[in-house]
Amino acid sequence: MSLPLYLVGARGCGKTTVGQALADALGYAFSDTDHHLWQTTQRTVAEIVAQEGWEGFRQRESLSLQAVTASGTVIATGGGMVLAGSNCQFMRDHGRVIYLRAEAGVLAARLEAYPEQDQRPTLTGRPVADEMVEVLAARDALYQQVSHYVINAMQHPVNVVNDIITLLSLARA
Ligand code: ADP
Ligand code: MG
Repeated sequence: MSLPLYLVGARGCGKTTVGQALADALGYAFSDTDHHLWQTTQRTVAEIVAQEGWEGFRQRESLSLQAVTASGTVIATGGGMVLAGSNCQFMRDHGRVIYLRAEAGVLAARLEAYPEQDQRPTLTGRPVADEMVEVLAARDALYQQVSHYVINAMQHPVNVVNDIITLLSLARA
């Protein structure tokens, strides 16, 4: 059985980009909890947060995590998935958890280069660079605790994928 592979990390670390490439390399399916949320609610993250608050969004996010979990699947998770201990436990119980780790400055540069790809409202309303420093200060330890593997996500996506395949001793399709 091919255990689900969960990618965790802050916005911009490459969960969607690397996740799709990893799935292609392994012959796995690819799921994205943010995308699943959009498919099932027909609303963006920003719209759900505006209508139901962050708490409502987090509840829906947990349901999406459970819904997309399947063997032979790479799962890109929302950046805040690890904030609920129950989500962390669920991921560790059902598969392998991989932290795509990158410095705040690298994340901010990516998000500033392609702001239209990221529909999530900023948590603080302040510049994205400041926010990423704060987000990582609050979450880096959480991402490390929940993950079975920590990967350097500040390299080309091809190399990130190669590192994951090597570290987990996975077979290419
Ligand atoms: P996430 O899903 O973790 O929020 P994305 O995969 O959407 O991150 O990537 C955010 C942005 O950063 C995209 O524009 C993507 O092309 C770019 N990106 C992702 N991974 C890398 C990487 N390893 N190197 C350079 N740019 C990257
Ligand atoms: Mg994404």
